[in-house]
Amino acid sequence: MRERLGAGDLSGEPAAWTVTAAPGGRAVHAQAGRRRLLTGTAPLRRPREQDTARLDCTGLGWVHLTPLGRGNCLVQAMVPGPAEDPAGLLARLLAESGLASGLRRAPRTAAALEAAPRIHRAPAVPPAAGRGGLLVVGAGALRQDPLSGTGTAQALRTAILAAAVVDAAAAGTSASALCAHYAHRLRAAHLDHLATCLRLYAAAFGSAAWRDEIDATRRALRRAAAGTLPGRSDRAVAEPPQEPPPR
Ligand SMILES: Cc1cc2nc3c(=O)[nH]c(=O)nc-3n(C[C@H](O)[C@H](O)[C@H](O)COP(=O)(O)OP(=O)(O)OC[C@H]3O[C@@H](n4cnc5c(N)ncnc54)[C@H](O)[C@@H]3O)c2cc1C
Repeated sequence: MRERLGAGDLSGEPAAWTVTAAPGGRAVHAQAGRRRLLTGTAPLRRPREQDTARLDCTGLGWVHLTPLGRGNCLVQAMVPGPAEDPAGLLARLLAESGLASGLRRAPRTAAALEAAPRIHRAPAVPPAAGRGGLLVVGAGALRQDPLSGTGTAQALRTAILAAAVVDAAAAGTSASALCAHYAHRLRAAHLDHLATCLRLYAAAFGSAAWRDEIDATRRALRRAAAGTLPGRSDRAVAEPPQEPPPR
């Protein structure tokens, strides 16, 4: 991209738009839930088994194996809250799921990443009073539950939509209307995703910890139905209070 941009804009004028994938700060997002993705790598028991991804579900969460090549696979699992010992929890989930038999051992190390669906409260701000416009793209704008497998696609969609906003504004369309459209499209995708999560997780999990996640999703959707969309900075969805981790 840098090559294609060439020397860039050397006019010294402030940029008309800033497009960023890293908006920073937790408060800028409305988040539905507090679940974590545990992730690590492990060797496959049968290294030639490189063409099959496996997904299973335990009471505590889902577990997924993705072949990475060279006899290794990515091990991912979702738990309904913070994890103090990600590697230990991942090993427990693997054992409970039955997927452990496909691995020579569980991952030696693992990370626990925030993974609850979230949306930026103000992903598009039009230029005003000599200040450039702002467009937030990628997971910084809209994060979807990893089970969807659509994180990269969503990131690309927001980038394509942001480029269309910049082009249309340069062609004379109202920047405010374009920004409102951008935010609306993101909110629609977010709410559609929350509805899917609610349907899947409510059918899969019955523990108290998962009920909290499911309730947080339901609350976010109810607020949307009542007109208090989670992307709106004036009426935002609060993150549920922190509770003890699932060990
Ligand atoms: C373990 C794991 C497995 C996943 N599996 C899948 C999958 O199977 N399918 C799928 O679709 N998605 C998957 N995802 C999600 C996917 O990776 C993300 O949705 C996607 O990468 C988001 O793209 P992005 O450009 O918004 O953010 P990123 O890919 O995080 O890129 C943002 C970049 O900005 C850089 N940056 C941050 N701050 C600054 C700054 N101040 N200045 C300059 N640069 C900065 C960061 O270093 C980073 O390189 C997975 C994620 C994880 C963690």
